[in-house]
Amino acid sequence: AEIWQDVPLAPPDSIFKLTAAYKADTFPQKVNLGVGAYRDDDNKPWVLPVIKKATQILLNDPDLDHEYLPITGLPEFTAGAAKLILGAGSPAIAEGRAVSVQTISGTGANHLGALFLSRFYHWDTPKQIYLSNPTWANHHAIFKNVGIQPVDYPYYDPATIGLDFDGFIGTLQSAAPRSVFLLHACAHNPTGVDPTRDQWKHIAEVIIAKNHYAFFDCAYQGFASGDLNNDAWAVRHFVEKGVPMLVCQSFAKNAGLYGERIGALHIVPPTKDAADRVKSQLSVLQRSEISNPPSHGARLVSLILNESVLFDEWNRDIKTMAERIISMRNELYRLLTEELKTPGSWIHIINQIGMFSFTGINPSQSQALIDTFHIYLTANGRISMAGLNTHNIRYFAESLDKVVR
Ligand code: PLP
Repeated sequence: AEIWQDVPLAPPDSIFKLTAAYKADTFPQKVNLGVGAYRDDDNKPWVLPVIKKATQILLNDPDLDHEYLPITGLPEFTAGAAKLILGAGSPAIAEGRAVSVQTISGTGANHLGALFLSRFYHWDTPKQIYLSNPTWANHHAIFKNVGIQPVDYPYYDPATIGLDFDGFIGTLQSAAPRSVFLLHACAHNPTGVDPTRDQWKHIAEVIIAKNHYAFFDCAYQGFASGDLNNDAWAVRHFVEKGVPMLVCQSFAKNAGLYGERIGALHIVPPTKDAADRVKSQLSVLQRSEISNPPSHGARLVSLILNESVLFDEWNRDIKTMAERIISMRNELYRLLTEELKTPGSWIHIINQIGMFSFTGINPSQSQALIDTFHIYLTANGRISMAGLNTHNIRYFAESLDKVVR
């Protein structure tokens, strides 16, 4: 018998499958709203001008070599990354209890965080993590891979196309003490629905009261509102309140460094002594997984985090991306409500935040957009705002109008 005869054929990843179908489509006005990456107004990938400058600086540096980085990453990168997410004045950083490790982008941060918890968290229940329903599909696989069972908590309410806050708080309250909850720091994927600041405060209070652990995933800092500090508010609030937590950080979206795989995991223990022990174990885990993280993306991000002129320019580039996306939300809302008088309420289009929007349309309407109008989106009705631009937004709005009538 052939040795792999029992290996079942896995289905293709649904997003990559959608992209393949879009590419194969020859219709001139086709639109790809499945894409999870920023596109400019001409539907082209955008290399941030600040990244071009940083790349040039590295090219001109005669001392650069290709030696291994330290196991936990480039120190200037991890220190700058910690300040970016936790805040330059963070008490956790000042007290030396923020542990930061460079990872293979946000996915690697999620994996390393999951692996660390699986080994070292004080589990008094079965190993399980509460994930928002819905969440980024990869979360399920990442936790299962390290023996942590995903459990859903209510998050999205189809009736309001908004947050099921009561359901969410109810689950925080009824879960066994010391449960682990994954929280999207901002720009929730896939719904675009975030808690308000008052709701975050309430969530933090219940997590503290129940001794839960907050596993933050932050893939869109700055990308959501255009302001890095604004989008880090929930994370910083939790640190300030002393919530036991970690945060996974990605520079894929906010620096346009998707393929460089640059990110970080930050764990915030209550004392420096605990932080030192946590760091030593993260280092052991990282060694067996990847030995040393890659250097190029870390050098680029280190430059834009630590050189003030570049940092300011990066902030402007982030605003360019966020503002284009926000303008697409406003224009889509205007077309649907004012021009086309499309039935239903569309206020969620401008209330939601970040790259993704849950339109509220059903799977058969999504399929009709694909089949009849060559507009590609996932069956759950999620669209990527980055796929809309001034050339195709009217076509999209008119097509959406037709499928919901
Ligand atoms: N977490 C969430 C919620 C995401 O949406 C993404 C990317 O789509 C990631 C993590 C990780 O992305 P990356 O590994 O490219 O940084």
